Amino acid sequence: MMDPGSGLDLEGDALIIDGRFALMGRDAQPPHDCPEIEGKGLWLFPGLVDMHAHLREPGDEASETVETGLKAAVSGGVTTVGVMPNTNPPMDSVAMVRRLMDSAAAAGQARAVPIPCVTIGREGNEPVDFQGLSRMGVRAFSDDGDPVHDTALLLRSLEAVSEFEGVIIEHPEERSLSGGAVNQGQVSSRMGVKGIPPEAETVDVARCLELARAARGRLHLTHLSLPRSVELARSDLFGDSGVTVDVTPHHLVLDETAVYEHGTMAKMNPPLRTREQRELLVKMVKDGMVDAVASDHAPHSRGRKELPVEAAAFGIAGLETLLPLTMEVLCGSGMSPLEVLRLLITGPAGILGIEPPALRVGGSAECVLYDPLEEYTLSDRGTFSRSSNTPFMRRMLRGRVKAVWMNELIYRDGDLAFS
Ligand SMILES: [Zn+2]
Repeated sequence: MMDPGSGLDLEGDALIIDGRFALMGRDAQPPHDCPEIEGKGLWLFPGLVDMHAHLREPGDEASETVETGLKAAVSGGVTTVGVMPNTNPPMDSVAMVRRLMDSAAAAGQARAVPIPCVTIGREGNEPVDFQGLSRMGVRAFSDDGDPVHDTALLLRSLEAVSEFEGVIIEHPEERSLSGGAVNQGQVSSRMGVKGIPPEAETVDVARCLELARAARGRLHLTHLSLPRSVELARSDLFGDSGVTVDVTPHHLVLDETAVYEHGTMAKMNPPLRTREQRELLVKMVKDGMVDAVASDHAPHSRGRKELPVEAAAFGIAGLETLLPLTMEVLCGSGMSPLEVLRLLITGPAGILGIEPPALRVGGSAECVLYDPLEEYTLSDRGTFSRSSNTPFMRRMLRGRVKAVWMNELIYRDGDLAFS
């Protein structure tokens, strides 16, 4: 069992009684008639925290609902989901946050952490009611899907959230430079489509860093796709900006050429970059320059992907592949599983301002049993997400979630329906 919060890394048994860890370690003696799950060769760790997912409800229930999205999360070992606000209407008010929390509670799956908009309607003009939302316990805000263009407004928002130790999550994109379909370069030329240059990301990263240096308030830069972006975020030039960053598994695993094989399933924003950039990004994660890995789960119904590459929607469904892909690429680069789990549990929890799940005697049992060696494809296993827009559908995945507890056992691999 492993817990990146405490550094726990040992072989042994865990005993769960009444939803809490009662014992941990070797030879935990279960009470008479306590059900047992054989975990030989398996890993037990706290539930993952995915700080960036789109659940599409309300407005696009054909692609995903809160219930199907949270089921997909649990089947991928994720027990806490940071839910982005670009729904229709957007989640920009106390009432909309309450609506999400009610739907999540009714689903009874993973925990939803609402990440409401920075600006009303996600329109970039007027800030949301930060204080009112903070009184509900909200700490993180984002206009994800779009950047907050208005720098003065972004500054005011950072100052506002600093009053309750909140964070603004910025989707770095300079829209006057973007507007293409794939990475600008060889692939875009060969396909004859407009490319998205690296500067569309790095220019906004630099703007945000300069602002974060000057402002009070915490800023997080999400789904960085370029080594240069990470380099900027860690540069001494910006002093102790306190900025945190995440990357996605797909930017670590795939490069721009994936679009030849997978077509629009490999179209995302920011786009997949060059092989060299991908390799350097992996190295930077290994070197500790990145705080979290997040799925950017972006489900889309078929009709929005089965289009020419220029017209198709950006993004891929990612909750069910987050863990095996991240483990594969980062353990493959030489990181230990415990170090990788830090990027999937304690790292993102710290950014969202929540207590991470932990393996602790007396604490609530929120954990994942994982077979690190099992090989399978998602198309064989089946998906819980309502959408299957992923280039990893038929890829051999290594590592499979076998069971998940949220106080009680809520998921067992093989039972297609949730308990
Ligand atoms: Zn985004």
